[in-house]
Amino acid sequence: MSRLPVSSNKRVLTSSSSSSENGQDLAPAQKKTRKDPEPVKPYAASTIIGTRRPAVAAIKAPISRPVRPTGAATVAVGPSRGVLKQAIASTAPRGSNIKAAAAPTGTKAVTGGAAGTKRQGWDLKGKVTDMESKLRNYQTKVKSVNQENEDLKRMMVKSQTRVTDLETCVAVQRGQISEYEEELQALSGVREELDKVSSEKSSIEKQLSNLEDKYKVMETLRQSQETELHTLKMKLSVQESTLSRLQLTLRDAEEEVRSLGETVVQQKGELHAGEMERRQLHNSIQELKGNIRVFCRVRPLKGGGLSQHLQLPATDNKTITLAKTEESHTGKTADTQKNYNFNFDRVFGPQASQKEVFEEISLLVQSALDGYNVCCFAYGQTGSGKTFTMEGAEYDEARGVIPRAVKQIFRAAEKLGAQGWVFTFTASFVEIYNETLRDLLYTGKASKRPEHEIRKLINNEVTITSLTYEKVTNEDQVLGLIAMANHNRSTAQTSQNDRSSRSHSVFQLDIEGANIGRDVKCKSTLCLVDLAGSERLLKSQSQGERFKEMTAINSSLSNLGIVITALANKDIHVPYRNSKLTYLLQGCLGGNSKTLMFVNISPEPDSFGETLNSLRFASKVNDCVIGTASANKK
Ligand code: ADP
Ligand code: MG
Repeated sequence: MSRLPVSSNKRVLTSSSSSSENGQDLAPAQKKTRKDPEPVKPYAASTIIGTRRPAVAAIKAPISRPVRPTGAATVAVGPSRGVLKQAIASTAPRGSNIKAAAAPTGTKAVTGGAAGTKRQGWDLKGKVTDMESKLRNYQTKVKSVNQENEDLKRMMVKSQTRVTDLETCVAVQRGQISEYEEELQALSGVREELDKVSSEKSSIEKQLSNLEDKYKVMETLRQSQETELHTLKMKLSVQESTLSRLQLTLRDAEEEVRSLGETVVQQKGELHAGEMERRQLHNSIQELKGNIRVFCRVRPLKGGGLSQHLQLPATDNKTITLAKTEESHTGKTADTQKNYNFNFDRVFGPQASQKEVFEEISLLVQSALDGYNVCCFAYGQTGSGKTFTMEGAEYDEARGVIPRAVKQIFRAAEKLGAQGWVFTFTASFVEIYNETLRDLLYTGKASKRPEHEIRKLINNEVTITSLTYEKVTNEDQVLGLIAMANHNRSTAQTSQNDRSSRSHSVFQLDIEGANIGRDVKCKSTLCLVDLAGSERLLKSQSQGERFKEMTAINSSLSNLGIVITALANKDIHVPYRNSKLTYLLQGCLGGNSKTLMFVNISPEPDSFGETLNSLRFASKVNDCVIGTASANKK
């Protein structure tokens, strides 16, 4: 008895296995079923499958649809052992599943058919019936499975179609993908370009920001400049108005200047006319005073004061009396006093200063600037004060005629410069010793000292050959020349004792003036002569060189007297050529020239004789002049 369920079980399994062997489609499934580790637990499987599979199938295989509700459990059994794709691709597992499911169902039916009552071993008919019903069941199932199979085949066809569609779709999409890839590749180039462009952009942006900064700065600058411009415009307008005002003022001023210019021109003309008139008047005065004048100057005694034999009336500065007391030879009569009266243009006593003396001459110096030749001599015995009168001493107060005249000339020339006068001055300094000329401004070697000759030019001007004619422009230059001349004279003096007193020294200043724009010119010479001592030596004392010197001096001095007298008398012949001195000075002596002779007197009583001689010589000249003056008066 106990064997039956076991055998029944075995049979079921056998039948099941045989039926599956019979089924064409189920063969592979059978193989798998055999591998199932739990084939002996159909119930449990049925139960588990029934509850669990649909959920799995629903999740993992939404494509497969259960044909029947009951089949759902059985259909789902297959895939539990394989993958979902297999279930879709082939019906074989499905078949096996169905079979596997059928077996338990069959078992269940058998179990159900014999529910409560198990067929007896002998009940073969019952068993056949069961078997037949079972068979019918199976047939039905086979039918439905076939149906299902057909469905699945259709589905598969559909699926395949779909697969084909999908493949086509995939191919299309692949094509699209490759297009996209190409596009992407193309885009990668674009990207690089984009990168480049973006880097460029960033640099441009930087530049832009820089430019913006600059722009801001420029803007600030512009604003400040605009402000400045505005200020300047305002200033300009103010300036313009000032300018226009000033222009008006300027026009007025110009008008005034023009009229003033006219006035100036007119006044200049008047001034010039005045100046010319002044010259004429000045000359007239000088002529009235005499073109040849004689001044007497008495040197003070060495110890000061004046000697008895010289009398200078206090009220009259033109007279000098030389008095000599002669003792009575018999002694019975009283001593007789013999007076020698002399009249001169002016007599200067021992107190007369250099300044006073010059004031009288300064008018003649003015004449020299006005274009008249001026000659000034100092005549007298040695030690009478000739050199003191002409040159004086170094210090200001003691300066003599020459430096004062030079100073006056340069000052006057400067003043006349304002009236358009331009002057040039040429200085020369010459010594006449023993009728020989010596250049006192010579600076070369003594051995090469040239010889000089006096030449008269066609225009009656006198010139000395090889003499130094120095252009001078100021007083100091002239003073320097005078110092140089003195040095030259003293050098000669050492070799020949007291030569200076036995030679004439002639300072000449040639003056040339021109008034620019008026075509007025003037030319004159100022001669200042320090003559040799006029003393006469006793014939016994004068021998050899001294005699020669004396003869030369005497002849030249007496000739000077003769020339001056001839000039004063307006003689036709004036013996200039008789001596070097008069020949040299002939240009300065005749015509309208002014001549001034100083007769210097030594006050010592032992000089009485020489004084008398000097005064006689001078008065001879003076008398001539007076005669001329009186003749003019007539
Ligand atoms: P000269 O040149 O005629 O030989 P100086 O001019 O050399 O004579 O004079 C002789 C001296 O007498 C000099 O020492 C000089 O200073 C002086 N002397 C000449 N005249 C005056 C004067 N007026 N007042 C003062 N001293 C004078
Ligand atoms: Mg002298």
